[in-house]
Amino acid sequence: MTGTILVAGGNGYIGSHVVVELAAAGFRPVIVDNLANSKPEAARRVAAIAGAKVPLLVGDVRDGAFLDAVFEAHDIDLVIHLAGLKAVGESVAEPLRYYDVNVGGAVGLLAAMRRHRVRRMVFSSSATVYGDPVSVPITEDFATGATNPYGRTKLMIEEILADLVASDPAWRAVSLRYFNPVGAHESAQIGEDPNGIPNNLFPFIAQVAVGRREKLSVFGGDYGTPDGTGVRDYIHVVDLARAHVKAAEALLSGALATGAHLPINLGTGRGFSVLDVVHAWRRATNRPIPYEVVERRPGDIAACYADPRLAASLLDWRAGFDLDAMCRDHWRWQSRNPNGYEEAA
Ligand code: NAD
Ligand code: UDP
Repeated sequence: MTGTILVAGGNGYIGSHVVVELAAAGFRPVIVDNLANSKPEAARRVAAIAGAKVPLLVGDVRDGAFLDAVFEAHDIDLVIHLAGLKAVGESVAEPLRYYDVNVGGAVGLLAAMRRHRVRRMVFSSSATVYGDPVSVPITEDFATGATNPYGRTKLMIEEILADLVASDPAWRAVSLRYFNPVGAHESAQIGEDPNGIPNNLFPFIAQVAVGRREKLSVFGGDYGTPDGTGVRDYIHVVDLARAHVKAAEALLSGALATGAHLPINLGTGRGFSVLDVVHAWRRATNRPIPYEVVERRPGDIAACYADPRLAASLLDWRAGFDLDAMCRDHWRWQSRNPNGYEEAA
């Protein structure tokens, strides 16, 4: 399929992989990003992988005049919206900033889309909208209930999309509820480049493996899980990116013309514990990955994994990479770019 797709936040970790897969599928991606959490080097590498020119338009999704210029210069068919802030702890400390950037940014982007008669959106949501689920695996009809401002911004944006689609059947929107995206493109040219001490498990272990940190702190060994450590549904970022291509194709072809906003889980459907992940990293790196079990992290839940059957039936999408491939590709990126995008290998 062809078409021009505006990828807001397309210079970030997930967005850069989405742009690569869109280009591979025949689309023309246009990146909008304010570089709040990414470096222009990412877009340069994306264009090199894609073998195509990919415009990086630097600006903020809350800036209506900037967006008008983007929509006037490019004949956009659909928007994939990944721009925003994503640190849970920071959202608790600075809720107004999160509501402004995430909710305000989504409203600003949707308003610009309406002005330019672009009415197709794929939105980056999160499994965090399920809060502490009553059971696993999680289907899309589970009760939602975020436990922090970040999660609430995701729920609010989903509700805004639902209201918009209900108000005008010309709109079509999908919210992709990501479980735990990890890994990197096989070229090792693009990947996750967190600032400061990583909050998430994979980037933290990657820094232990590369020698930047001494050991992993395992947050809690007394959960009601098989080995007592937290269980999550890790999904390779390239699989995740390909699901965006499928969602864009389904929205553009009319295959998803349901008249309602659709939330869709993106996960593998398998849960792995923190210790499972440590063992997989040892296999991938041949390094010891020392760890110590410490107190639980406040706000963490025991187990969270997807029932991914809706994505299979509606989008014809299934995850293809297993946990070993996720560790291998994350490690290849980390080991060849020990300081992220700052010092190229
Ligand atoms: P990221 O920070 O790497 O990418 C987000 C990009 O958006 C960055 O390049 C940043 O510069 C840009 N951005 C931020 N605010 C902006 C603004 N106001 N205007 C324009 N650009 C702006 O994060 P990511 O991990 O790639 O996540 C992408 C999306 O997926 C986010 O919305 C995030 O909430 C969601 N998500 C991520 C995860 C995860 O574990 N990484 C899980 C679930 C959902
Ligand atoms: N975790 C850990 N040590 C870390 C980071 C994470 O033990 O340094 C655990 C965390 O408690 C959870 C799992 O790893 O059980 C995944 O955590 P992450 O922050 O990556 O994702 P989320 O909790 O948002 O699903």
